[in-house]
Amino acid sequence: MKSLSAKIAGVTESATIAISNKAKQMQREGIDVISLSIGEPDFATPQHISDACIDALKRGETHYAPSNGIPELQAAIAEKIVKENHFPCTPQQVIVGCGAKDSIYETCEAVLNPGDETIILTPAWVSYEPCVHIAGGKAVFHEISQKTFQLDDSLLEKVNKKTKMIIVNSPSNPTGAVFDKKSMQLVADLCEDKDLYAMSDEIYEKMIYGKENISLASLGDMHERTITINGFSKAYAMTGWRLGYAVGPMPIIKEMSKVQQHSISQVTTFAMYGGVAALKGDQQCVENMRLEFDKRRKYVIGELNKMGYETAPADGAFYAFVKVKGDDVEVASRWLEKGHVAATPGSAFYAPGWVRLSYATSMEKLKEAMARIKRVG
Ligand code: PMP
Ligand code: GLU
Repeated sequence: MKSLSAKIAGVTESATIAISNKAKQMQREGIDVISLSIGEPDFATPQHISDACIDALKRGETHYAPSNGIPELQAAIAEKIVKENHFPCTPQQVIVGCGAKDSIYETCEAVLNPGDETIILTPAWVSYEPCVHIAGGKAVFHEISQKTFQLDDSLLEKVNKKTKMIIVNSPSNPTGAVFDKKSMQLVADLCEDKDLYAMSDEIYEKMIYGKENISLASLGDMHERTITINGFSKAYAMTGWRLGYAVGPMPIIKEMSKVQQHSISQVTTFAMYGGVAALKGDQQCVENMRLEFDKRRKYVIGELNKMGYETAPADGAFYAFVKVKGDDVEVASRWLEKGHVAATPGSAFYAPGWVRLSYATSMEKLKEAMARIKRVG
């Protein structure tokens, strides 16, 4: 038979999903595995959000909707962006996707031509490079200082005539670092100076502990060249809903819209009503989850530091990024095979020598996981 797509053959499986699948398989086999592998809040979706979706379903909101999203959701997102993220945004500049991941993928398809370079700041989340690659672009990695976890002028060395876009993710998955104003301004200046697009993935904006979230698009005229990515998975514990969005300049949204029309068409109609309830409803549920994450964060980081592990800043998101001795893949497999704790090796995030632990799980499980890691070393 003829060979399949070489482009897709060049993509590796998502490590976060692969390890979580392995942990689930071990659990099915009766092994008591604690999974700290995937970044998924363990909380239930707040009831008023589920109720709004159920009401929509009962009312018969079960047909095609406008491809870019129901107008109510586009309007709610635009309003949120203006109010909380401090840059101009109209409902037409919003495209609702099947999770933030879909919006990231569509952005790459809409912006990149074959060979166009995209700067990815490492340690980086697993799906940026594959999305750039599938869109025909070329990923160029820039390693962030593993001391400060902020940007400096060395970033400028990665820019050349082929550079088209830079991807920023603050708060960061996997490090938990939050870029300060200086780092964000450096990206903004670079984009304006070299005429680059920026993709700013702000999906962890609500999971932030004592730091300020700065939206890249709020700096100067950056909203004219920035696609801001966000979604409902993390802030509202809605991972399975597959609800995310991108907001950006009209010409890019129009191109993304074509990709959407010819692929997913739209996000599930009744799910979008849940999104409206999430944004329009009481935000105390978000704060309650943040406070709980903060408790877990302090506990996990404290325990790891007591065991002698160095950890990345953990100022945002819900990950502990841990410096380990020796090969990170071996350490993660030791923790899994001997300690029955699933974690993701830093190599998956282009950061060998580190291991990522998600603390988006119950305190009870975290306590047991820490005891196990201590035991197997
Ligand atoms: N960006 C980052 C940094 C993530 O960690 C995730 C995790 N799923 C996503 C985007 C995608 O989120 P979703 O597709 O569930 O909205
Ligand atoms: N973003 C989460 C993680 O990093 C969920 C899995 C994924 O989509 O990669 O674990």
